[in-house]
Amino acid sequence: MHIEVNGLNKKFGEFQAVKDVSFEIEKGQLIGLLGPSGGGKTSILRMLAGLESVDDGDIVFHGKRVNDLPPQERGIGFVFQNYALFKHMTVEDNISFGLEVKKWTKAKIKARVAELVELTGLSGFEKRYPHQLSGGQRQRVAFARALAPEPQLLLLDEPFAAIDAKIRHELRSWLRDMIDRLGITSIFVTHDQDEAIEVADQIMIINKGRLEQKGTPWEIYKNPESPFVAGFIGESTIVDDVSSLKGFGHASDWPGTKALIRPEYVEVGKAADFELLSATEPGRVRHVHFRGSEWLVEVEVGTSRLVTYRSLEKEILHPGDEVQVLIHRAYLFNDNDSWVMENK
Ligand code: ATP
Repeated sequence: MHIEVNGLNKKFGEFQAVKDVSFEIEKGQLIGLLGPSGGGKTSILRMLAGLESVDDGDIVFHGKRVNDLPPQERGIGFVFQNYALFKHMTVEDNISFGLEVKKWTKAKIKARVAELVELTGLSGFEKRYPHQLSGGQRQRVAFARALAPEPQLLLLDEPFAAIDAKIRHELRSWLRDMIDRLGITSIFVTHDQDEAIEVADQIMIINKGRLEQKGTPWEIYKNPESPFVAGFIGESTIVDDVSSLKGFGHASDWPGTKALIRPEYVEVGKAADFELLSATEPGRVRHVHFRGSEWLVEVEVGTSRLVTYRSLEKEILHPGDEVQVLIHRAYLFNDNDSWVMENK
């Protein structure tokens, strides 16, 4: 289903939880709503679902304004973080419940349940009750139940939050595969950036009720439009005054300006490793962590601590080593502007 949202607003009392949010979603895409707690993600999802009224703005599904349609007429499936399965019902009864409400015939229900049990890998578990299932299995039942009535849009509110790390990982790739197979437009809420990056076609960063940026994970990582977004996606450190970095491009022209620096744009080495020593900063290694495929090096430059990755083939650095630090690129920002500076 193609979705269009224009100028969406929501107040709870005097508090504006959602501020002028607009976006468009192509059919079949998996969208991650990502942002800090209290930012308004769930409120946006609930308005799309029809579980919360809209103060202002339009929600358009497939060219049709649905603001005034009740949830059951919007063609959506909903999965919550805490399963919300019926405890006294078996797996197959949980899945078929919504279809019985919709008065599907017995034969059609039977076929649909069999199809979903297969799709969600629950064969053999049809007669079990929720308490006889693992967390991951229960969440797959919740998916099957949401998908049963053939919704056009799937809304997922922190679907993996209550599941332990290893299973969560498996469920994420399972969800990605399933959405690809079904081609169903899906939106999920998360505050976990790794989850959003790994699973979503597009991410929408929601902060303080506003949509800060929308794009593929890579686009957002590469071209963050605000310091908030830059700091929220990917690792980074903030240098409070970029002019303290003597070798870094034209940093001295920008006293008092903050800089956000990503690990992959920082290089550490001994003085002899650098052709143009004047473009580097002196630093001291603070910590070195082995990360399996590389070293993570934390280095002190002036009053700042920068982080960088270092290949295993290179000479091993130790805490206390005097090094030179080359910063290739940083995001600079002051109160009303942000821009990228290269070390040239
Ligand atoms: P989280 O990740 O913690 O779930 P969120 O980004 O989903 O956060 P929302 O749940 O949409 O954020 O909440 C946005 C703001 O609106 C919060 O400050 C919340 O306290 C407030 N809020 C949400 N629902 C209501 C309500 N029914 N009544 C009053 N305030 C509400």
